[in-house]
Amino acid sequence: MSDLFATIETPVTKYEQPLGLFINNEFVKGAKGQTFETINPSTEKGIVAIHEATEEDVDIAVAAARAAFEGSWRQVTPHERGRYLNKLADLMERDVDTLCAIEALDNGKAFTMANIDITNSIGCLRYYAGWADKIHGQTIDTNPETLTYTRHEPIGVCGQIIPWNFPLLMWSWKIGPAVATGNTVVLKTAEQTPLSALYTAKLVKEAGFPAGVINIISGFGRVAGAAISKHLDIDKVAFTGSTLVGRTILQDAAKSNLRKVTLELGGKSPNIIFDDADIDNAISWSNFGIFFNHGQCCAAGSRILVQEGIYDKFIARLKERTSQNKVGNPFEQDTFQGPQVSQLQFDRIMEYISHGKQAGATLAVGGERYGKEGYFIQPTVFTDVTTDMKIVQEEIFGPVVTVQKFKDEAEAIKLGNSTQYGLAAGIHTKNVNTAIRVSNALHAGTVWINSYNLISYQAPFGGFKQSGIGRELGSYALENYTQVKTVQYRLGDALF
Ligand code: ADP
Repeated sequence: MSDLFATIETPVTKYEQPLGLFINNEFVKGAKGQTFETINPSTEKGIVAIHEATEEDVDIAVAAARAAFEGSWRQVTPHERGRYLNKLADLMERDVDTLCAIEALDNGKAFTMANIDITNSIGCLRYYAGWADKIHGQTIDTNPETLTYTRHEPIGVCGQIIPWNFPLLMWSWKIGPAVATGNTVVLKTAEQTPLSALYTAKLVKEAGFPAGVINIISGFGRVAGAAISKHLDIDKVAFTGSTLVGRTILQDAAKSNLRKVTLELGGKSPNIIFDDADIDNAISWSNFGIFFNHGQCCAAGSRILVQEGIYDKFIARLKERTSQNKVGNPFEQDTFQGPQVSQLQFDRIMEYISHGKQAGATLAVGGERYGKEGYFIQPTVFTDVTTDMKIVQEEIFGPVVTVQKFKDEAEAIKLGNSTQYGLAAGIHTKNVNTAIRVSNALHAGTVWINSYNLISYQAPFGGFKQSGIGRELGSYALENYTQVKTVQYRLGDALF
């Protein structure tokens, strides 16, 4: 086997893993011949060496995407674009176990939970496949002697940069709407989790996409990511990741060609439990809200706010529920929480935990490493926190939640809105008026009532305040990938 492919064995499947950069429908080595190792976070051991993209490779990939955009892809009808996406979704469905196994191996997410990611990735592609031939402009009655209409045209070459927390799901949120609307893409995966997108790249080729439409590169943020962010022949950048890097992406666009930018950034989302909430329900969703995907969700309900009347009962029940979360080997059937994705993330989270202890918060549950090997952290609950504490203000991106007490609705809203972020929020109450009033008052792109973390590819997702710019998913995402052209056709005589 050449070093562009490797055979990988997981507890579920043995498969052929592509290792190269996927440019023009071929797997190739990077121009500088560099590779980097991707790590299994459950064992801290290397899985395989991957070819690394540098600036030169970004140039090559962008040229391929440009050629496809100006050439073959333009000849493809909207209906056919949808067929390619549906074909790709069929192939992912065929290989669903392999894809789940790759996510469990490379990211550390529980195999059974990875199924949620892959099923939704497939659904997302099919959803946008359906949109491909439904991109409509308007005819506008400006004047009896003029035919005025709009066309919603693709933007061009899209640079897409995704994080490691939902490797294939983020891939589908980016690829689906971009390709359905007729763009071409150069997508960079996160350096921690390159494998599932490369495997899917193989399926892109099998699905018959013309060369250059979808290009997938592996590499580091400060090299390949920055090269995408600054590239003058990229017409649009879509980024999901930290608020810090999001700022750089926007600055790069302002300093260069003013490309369109959409950003999906961090969060510190409140999950508000009122006295009259169904306690069983609220406990389940609070637990799922923070500990799903090991707390590595931008929308995680990382600040639980509980009304004083049920506070003590809630804490006791949350402790009990949290201790039932099975932490461990992602490939075991009943595992809910696997390892954090990397040593760096593990260290960051442990630092926040020690900061919380030093700041005087009470550690109600967890707070330690789990086991001796792998980046596992115990589900952790802090109580007796104050709004100014770092653990209450900053995104921890791990299995750590703070619980605060509030008196009334006004205080819940004030605390709910007390961070720089505005990605999501949860409300638990049986009172419909409370639910609607509070959801209207919260600065959040998504509000879940009597639930948490329910994300549907049909519904828009994105942030208020410093949680981002633009909306992904649903019909809203089509606007990110199209630009409106007004055409005026004069029927009558010359006016001037
Ligand atoms: P995290 O800290 O959670 O890894 P990042 O925002 O650093 O989040 O990473 C998200 C994505 O952004 C990854 O694909 C990463 O490689 C990329 N990235 C990181 N730094 C930059 C940068 N300066 N320019 C462009 N992309 C970057």
